[in-house]
Amino acid sequence: MARRRIIAGNWKMNKTPSEAVALCNELKDLVKNDAVDVVYCVPAIDICPVAEAVKGTNVHVGAENFYIEDKGAFTGEISAPMLKEAGVEYIIIGHSERRDIFGENDVLINQKVKKAFASGLTPILCCGESLALRKADTYKEWIKRQITWDLDGVTADQVKKLVIAYEPIWAIGTGETATADQAEEVCGLIRNLIAELYDQATADEVRIQYGGSMNAGNAAELLSKPNIDGGLIGGASLKPDFGKIVNA
Ligand code: PEP
Repeated sequence: MARRRIIAGNWKMNKTPSEAVALCNELKDLVKNDAVDVVYCVPAIDICPVAEAVKGTNVHVGAENFYIEDKGAFTGEISAPMLKEAGVEYIIIGHSERRDIFGENDVLINQKVKKAFASGLTPILCCGESLALRKADTYKEWIKRQITWDLDGVTADQVKKLVIAYEPIWAIGTGETATADQAEEVCGLIRNLIAELYDQATADEVRIQYGGSMNAGNAAELLSKPNIDGGLIGGASLKPDFGKIVNA
């Protein structure tokens, strides 16, 4: 089955509101491609200006984080209804930086996935192993465990709409990309796991991205692999290179 390609930028903690609008304008013509879902996942303060700047284009807006309650005494947090009203459609959940720096565990990540779906947001669920797990050759078990935990109680119909990003931690922001074969191995493993946990129809529909130093030079080869349906891109999403990845 043909899955629609999805190329998402993860801007991380970069771009003030005025810089964000300038980047949208710079990328506007470069990211045109009707065959691809293009998403900018941006810092919370940039969501409103970016939503305005991409109006009428093929770009969808995503957020990088949210909390599982709708409102209340959660200082510093932002909720799904707030994101929805601001025009957000996609939400990154379980990024390794949130897991490692901010201590998010699979229990919270699972709650976030369920809350996102209940709120009409599409999760981009990240998973990936450290260099130590890769070297110890235990990365496959690790990825399976992460996905199994993170999807506990999530329905097949929801998983069909889900985006999973395989992001080996050793390749994020390091300039070291997984080879296309390494990336394909794990993306294929994730699809097989979804078939085991749900069924083949669900596995055929779920979209799986690779992320980790994807750039204009390596995107075409990575995206040519049968189980890689797109990319989650950090550093290169802040540059005109992002347009080349969208059109790779
Ligand atoms: C990321 O943080 O999601 C990522 C893939 O970063 P980079 O492309 O910079 O490695």
